[in-house]
Amino acid sequence: MKSHQPLPISMMRAMVLERSGTPLVMRESPAPSPAAGEILIAVSACGVCRTDLHVVDGELPHPKLPVVPGHEIVGRVASIGAGVTGFKIGQRVGVPWLGHTCGVCAYCRSDRENLCDVPQFTGYTRDGGYASHTVADATYCFQLGESTDDAETAPLLCAGLIGWRSYRMAGEARALGLYGFGAAAHILTQVAAWQGRSVYAFTRTGDTAAQAFARSLGAVWAGASEDEPPEPLDAAIIFAPVGALVPLALKAVKKGGRIVCGGIHMSDIPRFPYRLLWEERQLLSVANLTRKDAREFLEIAPRAGVKCDVTRYSLAAANTALSDLREGRLQGAAVLVT
Ligand SMILES: [Zn+2]
Ligand SMILES: [Zn+2]
Repeated sequence: MKSHQPLPISMMRAMVLERSGTPLVMRESPAPSPAAGEILIAVSACGVCRTDLHVVDGELPHPKLPVVPGHEIVGRVASIGAGVTGFKIGQRVGVPWLGHTCGVCAYCRSDRENLCDVPQFTGYTRDGGYASHTVADATYCFQLGESTDDAETAPLLCAGLIGWRSYRMAGEARALGLYGFGAAAHILTQVAAWQGRSVYAFTRTGDTAAQAFARSLGAVWAGASEDEPPEPLDAAIIFAPVGALVPLALKAVKKGGRIVCGGIHMSDIPRFPYRLLWEERQLLSVANLTRKDAREFLEIAPRAGVKCDVTRYSLAAANTALSDLREGRLQGAAVLVT
């Protein structure tokens, strides 16, 4: 099937996960009509996030199946549902992971919609952006303006936003460690360097390419995860889904230091002696994002001059993009372009 032929708006094509643990398959179907409160978006780019791997591999519970993955969506409004205000046809918008919240649970009512009791997540419990079109709840979409490239903007919608939330949770760290130098770390390094912080980048042992990439983006030091950094860290963020990094990061932070786990899934954390946590070191996780995080970060990213390094794939090559991400064959972020 050719992926580049334009379709009438009444039809859409999508890379669909029909069963966990199986490759995505291309499906063509009538494009959905936006329900009240929703917009139909013609997708131009969708980032490929590590969370998509966890969805495809069945590591996250209760996905909608079949599901169209993808939650770093950039596209243009193609049709507007009843009751939607503030959007117009043709406008460029972004859709993040947080697809809907209930607005009434205790978390929603206390500015913690990221922890909503009955949330919907784009590309997981509702269809996402590995597609020519997608529908989204308009109140969870962001206007993006016209000044940036679609593919280079897509990774900001998750790697950027959840990276930003993790970064904020890490506190006012001057010396900041980043474990796992993928899409999120490559964005955050630029923000942290712009703010005058010192970034220490930790990669897989021997991944000298990732280490050089980290230095090129402003990291003051890059090495292997097992390495001791040249100075004790104030805080560290772990983006790699590897539980064994937790005790390593705890060893690398000074008294009162904070470790933030930024991923949605991680392998088991090995046992470690209490002395690694002692002296008020803290270990915490970051879940999802709030719309406030998104507004903050989308405002800060251009001021910080964030530039995403992307590898483009066609929609039909989504499985290749996923396996390149899985095998660590990528620098920066993978993006599907439609
Ligand atoms: Zn809620
Ligand atoms: Zn993501």
